[in-house]
Amino acid sequence: MKSWDAIVVGAGIIGLSLAIELNKHGLRVLVVDKGEPGREASWAAGGMLADFPAETPPALRELATASALMYPEFVRELEDESGLKIDLRSVGTLILAGVETGQSLTGTQTYALPRPLAELEPVLLIRDGASRFTVLFAKERCVDPRDLTLAAIAAGRRRGIDFSSGDQVLAVEVANGKACGVRANKTKFPAGMVVNCAGAWAGQIGPHAFPTRPVKGQMLSVIMPQKELVRHVVRTPDVYLIPRSDGRLVIGATSEEAGFDKQTVPETIQKLRQAAIDLVPKLAEARILEVWAGLRPGTPDGVPILGATPTPGYFVATGHFRDGILLAPVTAKLVAQTMIGQTAEIDVSKFSADRFAN
Ligand SMILES: Cc1cc2nc3c(=O)[nH]c(=O)nc-3n(C[C@H](O)[C@H](O)[C@H](O)COP(=O)(O)OP(=O)(O)OC[C@H]3O[C@@H](n4cnc5c(N)ncnc54)[C@H](O)[C@@H]3O)c2cc1C
Repeated sequence: MKSWDAIVVGAGIIGLSLAIELNKHGLRVLVVDKGEPGREASWAAGGMLADFPAETPPALRELATASALMYPEFVRELEDESGLKIDLRSVGTLILAGVETGQSLTGTQTYALPRPLAELEPVLLIRDGASRFTVLFAKERCVDPRDLTLAAIAAGRRRGIDFSSGDQVLAVEVANGKACGVRANKTKFPAGMVVNCAGAWAGQIGPHAFPTRPVKGQMLSVIMPQKELVRHVVRTPDVYLIPRSDGRLVIGATSEEAGFDKQTVPETIQKLRQAAIDLVPKLAEARILEVWAGLRPGTPDGVPILGATPTPGYFVATGHFRDGILLAPVTAKLVAQTMIGQTAEIDVSKFSADRFAN
């Protein structure tokens, strides 16, 4: 029977990036997914690489900044290894913060607009002008998460990583107190180590019940009447707009506690579309291309669960909530270092599942 050095449960962007990183360290890796690789939250995401202090939980800021810096190289490597193109945009983000939130950062050097708003994004209509919004500029990038996951799957295959699709992992197998593989619905897979990257479903896999939960997000994409009609990512408290270089515009997103339901609701999609039109009236002419919903992997404190578990040889990398696309490169690096017994470059002990022990 074939066996592996490491089994990665879950072929979302976290599992895929980690599988590649483990393979770079010389490990033979199997990735097991209950469905088709890369088709859950990582397919549904907007792809903002948001590293804005007022929005990122303090516990995550060091990881967020480190990962944002790793992104250009992460993407270049995946493009080289897969032969696929990934839409990574560096135009920047306009953050329209509600003044009433009291989080006005105007005047700070980092977030000052490089040019007047009317030049940066002429199609933007800001109702009530400065009385309602403080407009900030962040040098954040954005990426098409579907390009990214497809490239990561192709790069993984080219590296010789094995994939098993349609295999739902039920539990991690333990022998002599140590993880020795996984038990899936159809078969067992043996390995020296296992890492749980099952996103919103991570808590369903024994023996440890990680407190992850699904947080539903509905979104839509439209075809802009002109390519580059909207050039920047635009975020407001009600809606965000993410342009793609091929002329699509992604409009998101709701945040709902709805269990594992992934249905879209026409009225909700219409509200998002209207909020986008309120910001950019020309979008009234834009044709809807697609509507969808995905499940963010949430945790009780909104921060990921990373590192070793109480079972030797069993690790976890999940709970990335609304930042999993951003955090994939740094998560892969740090969790791989932990798994092979190196000291992680950034201390991940505060992300341990132990914090939920009581
Ligand atoms: C609407 C929306 C917008 C978002 N926007 C952004 C954004 O702009 N920027 C950002 O950084 N993040 C964003 N996110 C968050 C981001 O998508 C997630 O944090 C990230 O994709 C999580 O990746 P993952 O690999 O952990 O999970 P997933 O991509 O969900 O992958 C988990 C995988 O595990 C598999 N699996 C589950 N259970 C089992 C099992 N028992 N056995 C085998 N396989 C299993 C699943 O089939 C799935 O393929 C958004 C999410 C949503 C839903």
